Amino acid sequence: TERTLAIIKPDGVSGNHTNSVKETILNHGFKITEESFIQLDEDRVKSFYAEHSSRSFFPSLVEYMTSGPVLIMVLEKRNAISDWRALIGPTDPLKAKVTHPHSVRAICGLNLQNNCVHGSDSPQSAAQEISFFFKRTSSG
Ligand code: ATP
Repeated sequence: TERTLAIIKPDGVSGNHTNSVKETILNHGFKITEESFIQLDEDRVKSFYAEHSSRSFFPSLVEYMTSGPVLIMVLEKRNAISDWRALIGPTDPLKAKVTHPHSVRAICGLNLQNNCVHGSDSPQSAAQEISFFFKRTSSG
């Protein structure tokens, strides 16, 4: 089995998508092995999205990700990383609505920034992101 990090972002939580997204996750055979409902602060978001720090949308991304609580989860199943990425769909929900209408972002996302969910994009980033939020189980 493989583990990946999923986040229901502030727009997903405030839009009341938490339960339906979790149901989708479980219906697709993932186990939710860790779960934490937290408010991110600016430093934590800047560190999590450090790779985007030079992008023009970075200040807006930081403001968005600190605008309310998020649900952080570790998902476990075979091919968890690519399967979760496939399930959430393209980054831009407006594009997702056209090309992947049943994806999580097509259903729950609002726009390119407010796109409801996150998923790790590689084994390296999954390991790094899981240990970033769940220190205890980082070696799993
Ligand atoms: P994530 O890493 O959250 O799963 P992703 O890998 O699909 O999303 P990235 O390119 O890594 O997308 O961007 C990280 C996040 O930054 C996006 O999910 C979105 O919230 C925001 N974002 C990305 N591109 C833009 C943009 N051009 N304008 C505004 N926000 C953006």
